[in-house]
Amino acid sequence: MEYIKSKIREVPDYPSKGILFYDLTTAFKDPRALHIIGWDLSQLYRDKGVTKVVGIESRGFIGGSILAFELGAGFVPARKPGKLPADTVSASYQKEYGVDTIEMHRDAIGPDDIVVLHDDVLATGGTMAAAYKLVKSMNPKKIYVNFIIELTALNGRANLPEEADVTSLIKY
Ligand code: AMP
Repeated sequence: MEYIKSKIREVPDYPSKGILFYDLTTAFKDPRALHIIGWDLSQLYRDKGVTKVVGIESRGFIGGSILAFELGAGFVPARKPGKLPADTVSASYQKEYGVDTIEMHRDAIGPDDIVVLHDDVLATGGTMAAAYKLVKSMNPKKIYVNFIIELTALNGRANLPEEADVTSLIKY
């Protein structure tokens, strides 16, 4: 874990003043860090019968794909509006300024699925709460929630449903 941490670049005042941005691109480009991230994520879900990993656009696509591959599961993207070509379902959530929306294909998840919802960073939890609502509306057997990084000071877990089963690899 210390190795991964040493490869995460911390960028002050990005994207706006006062935000310390945890940049995972420097970990993803390092072969050993990428391998450890994929392995450690998958160890959390090895024996859980996971059938689909949902990655949140866009940084959640990277870890989500690796996790799906490691688990022998399928990968499903949760995307910004207007990007998915077929019939979609959507959920909106409040951001600091204004409202944001995410979409998934209506047929992406079914009642037999065991799902891991993945994003790179848990900050306020707003994005994940919306994604959770969306996946839940498709009635899978079980939903797990996973992050590479959790920013504990922001208490994002409080914005997720109480029933949510949440893990993260690295806490700051
Ligand atoms: P939130 O909805 O507040 O939990 O934030 C959601 C998204 O913003 C996550 O998908 C992260 O990719 C990104 N994000 C928010 N804060 C940070 C941060 N301090 N460092 C890196 N990414 C962040």
